Amino acid sequence: MSTELPSGTAAVSDRNPEPRSFDFFKLIVIAVATVMAIIFTASSMAGAIVSWMPVEAEQQLGKAIVPIYEKTAKPGETQTKLNQLLEGLEQQLPSSNPKRDYQILYFDDPMVNAAAIPGDRILVYRGLLEQVESENELMMVLGHELGHFRNRDHLRGLGNALLYQIAFSTLFGDMGSILGLGASVVESVGRAQFSQQQETQADDVGITLLNQHYGHVAGATDFFDRMGKTNVPDLKWFASHPAPAQRVEQLKKLIRDRQYLIKAKTPMDRFNR
Ligand SMILES: [Zn+2]
Repeated sequence: MSTELPSGTAAVSDRNPEPRSFDFFKLIVIAVATVMAIIFTASSMAGAIVSWMPVEAEQQLGKAIVPIYEKTAKPGETQTKLNQLLEGLEQQLPSSNPKRDYQILYFDDPMVNAAAIPGDRILVYRGLLEQVESENELMMVLGHELGHFRNRDHLRGLGNALLYQIAFSTLFGDMGSILGLGASVVESVGRAQFSQQQETQADDVGITLLNQHYGHVAGATDFFDRMGKTNVPDLKWFASHPAPAQRVEQLKKLIRDRQYLIKAKTPMDRFNR
């Protein structure tokens, strides 16, 4: 009888725990990497879906949600005048196919807000109109919202789950089912938050359009500057549009770099002010 182990056995059994802990470590690394890859793929897929989504799908989405907003909008003189102003900026946009026709929906509501929504509509609230002190700064806000359309930020704000549903409906030619997403899209639009980069890009489009329309950029920073310093109740715009001070600085830099002219501002006479 021998308790002696065959040569090499002890060494093998000594080594056993080592590969096990190594495997365990490897497993954790693989698991973490997989989760990270899934998160990364999901978010970049959402970005890819937005870039790929045909304008027709976006317009279909508009058919689902625009009527919901129209129920509380207040068409009339103010909305018509706002649309005339927007038309001036639209004429500066490059032509697109299919053609887009941006329009404003006006709300008689004290909220200081404006937003771009699928369906080529820009929501403008009375509170915003009451806060702007020149036509130029109003045009800067409208131009900024047009910038969100160009960069398709209004779609990115919908969130991944909704984007996947829209993508599937589009892929399988079932555009009609997009109409059923109305309520969740409206809720998503209300919660949308833009990143600093999205804001900067939209500001860039805004100031470019402002310059093309007036031939100068007076008033470009006024609204952001004033709203960043005051404590206006119902100021919803900055909930979705962060860091006013930083954006004012960035706009001033653009004005310097591009040597934009600053001339006299156009008063808000059009709106009987
Ligand atoms: Zn914005």
